[in-house]
Amino acid sequence: MTNHLFSLVRDGVPDPAKTVIETPEGRHIRYGDLLARSGAYAAALAAAGVVPGDRVAVQVEKSPEVIVLYLGVVRAGAVFLPLNTAYTPAEIAYFLGDAEPALFVCDPARREALAEAAAGVPRIWTLDASGRGSAAEAADGQGGDGPDVPRAADDLAAILYTSGTTGRSKGAMLTHDNLASNARVLVEHWRFTADDVLIHALPVFHTHGLFVATNTVLASGGAMLFLPRLDPKKILELMPRATAMMGVPTFYTRLLKEPGLDAEVAGKIRLFVSGSAPLLAETHREWRARTGHAILERYGMTETNMSTSNPYDGDRVAGTVGFPLPGVSLRVVDPETGAALESEKIGMIEVRGPNVFKGYWRMPEKTAAEFRPDGFFITGDLGKVDRAGYVHIVGRGKDLIISGGFNVYPKEVETEIDGLPGVVESAVIGLAHPDFGEAVTAVVVGGADAPDEAAVLAALEGRLARFKCPKRVLVVDELPRNTMGKVQKNVLRDRYADLYRE
Ligand code: AMP
Repeated sequence: MTNHLFSLVRDGVPDPAKTVIETPEGRHIRYGDLLARSGAYAAALAAAGVVPGDRVAVQVEKSPEVIVLYLGVVRAGAVFLPLNTAYTPAEIAYFLGDAEPALFVCDPARREALAEAAAGVPRIWTLDASGRGSAAEAADGQGGDGPDVPRAADDLAAILYTSGTTGRSKGAMLTHDNLASNARVLVEHWRFTADDVLIHALPVFHTHGLFVATNTVLASGGAMLFLPRLDPKKILELMPRATAMMGVPTFYTRLLKEPGLDAEVAGKIRLFVSGSAPLLAETHREWRARTGHAILERYGMTETNMSTSNPYDGDRVAGTVGFPLPGVSLRVVDPETGAALESEKIGMIEVRGPNVFKGYWRMPEKTAAEFRPDGFFITGDLGKVDRAGYVHIVGRGKDLIISGGFNVYPKEVETEIDGLPGVVESAVIGLAHPDFGEAVTAVVVGGADAPDEAAVLAALEGRLARFKCPKRVLVVDELPRNTMGKVQKNVLRDRYADLYRE
């Protein structure tokens, strides 16, 4: 038996001398280095007593070493558990207590602050943004491209905690084949080859940057221009050398503000991909006008990897996430009864396939509650499949507003508001209301000529059924977003919780 996931990487190596990761400082990590160094990490982990199935929790700044360490953990047969760099010591204490890792790797600058949170972990290593620390020292002492611990398709490769906007954050258990099969499908579907050079400015503690972007490039033998974070000017500088970019919608809106963005600078690019949050149809149109490229929007989540994608050839329809990927079954059902709905009807999106995770770490009841008996995973996303087969995401089920007994899908109201002159974007939420149960409330970001509350309400009259019209419109400078560009509606709901209470 081979190491199922790592053999995908090993088999994809084009030429050991070829660069796989290049940093802005001009560092080149070659495929040969990637093999040797990840082997050294695997050997160091084994020497430190990490055995197959052990979790290795990692909270460090983005650097090429994180990728090497990830591969080392996989090769050691252990389970990679990346943690958001924004997590506080109290949050880290929860994750370490829940996952019980054999080893925790943290930034040396945070070692002391995290000492209490990590008190129960048998071993702690450090790794800084330049790739130094006790983890690197442990690998320094080991020989090269060591043997890979055999792992089957169904063995765990990673645990990623969901962002947990309601209740406790859950650890999604991802198997070797969840990751390997999805990478293979994406290479094929998005036509990745060893000639590709991907702009990588996403964080590597999240499925998007770690798996969608990195695994796809590694499996195709391509290269990455690795930026520590989203830096629109730097991205523009690199763009003439790149063939592809993957980003969250914020990448595209921020880049559109750069005067230098045009068809010439994007001349070598063959593919722009967006996901993790909805891309505004207007951003899609503007991007096309400026660069000549139709952004390819896709949909997935931590638990399912990638489930749908707009086509490589054929119409990339703005406001949709395309078709189910090969091997993925997707259906829209009535959330109450589970009965399948016909096209154009909004309901709960469910998916099944080799991409779908194994369950939530040590939460068998939660896992059972989110799978149907026939193996479909209940995503929690509401959406529809249109007559042409394109999937549309309407929003998270928990964002659905029930006002006076009627269901209001925030997306429908947001689309109307976003179309008004002077509006940049909006978020529609439900807030507790003494008469209606929940009141539809719009939080609107406007430009210099933004309409005020009365103007928005007047414009919506006659366009939306009365029960869908916001009771209040709050004009703000910006919407709260997390690092993946997702609008944090829970933050808005908390902020305005008492709006209708006086
Ligand atoms: P995460 O697990 O952090 O990747 O978040 C997954 C969630 O992000 C999904 O369940 C969707 O609600 C949302 N999402 C991902 N991609 C898209 C997309 N293209 N359009 C709309 N929502 C998306």
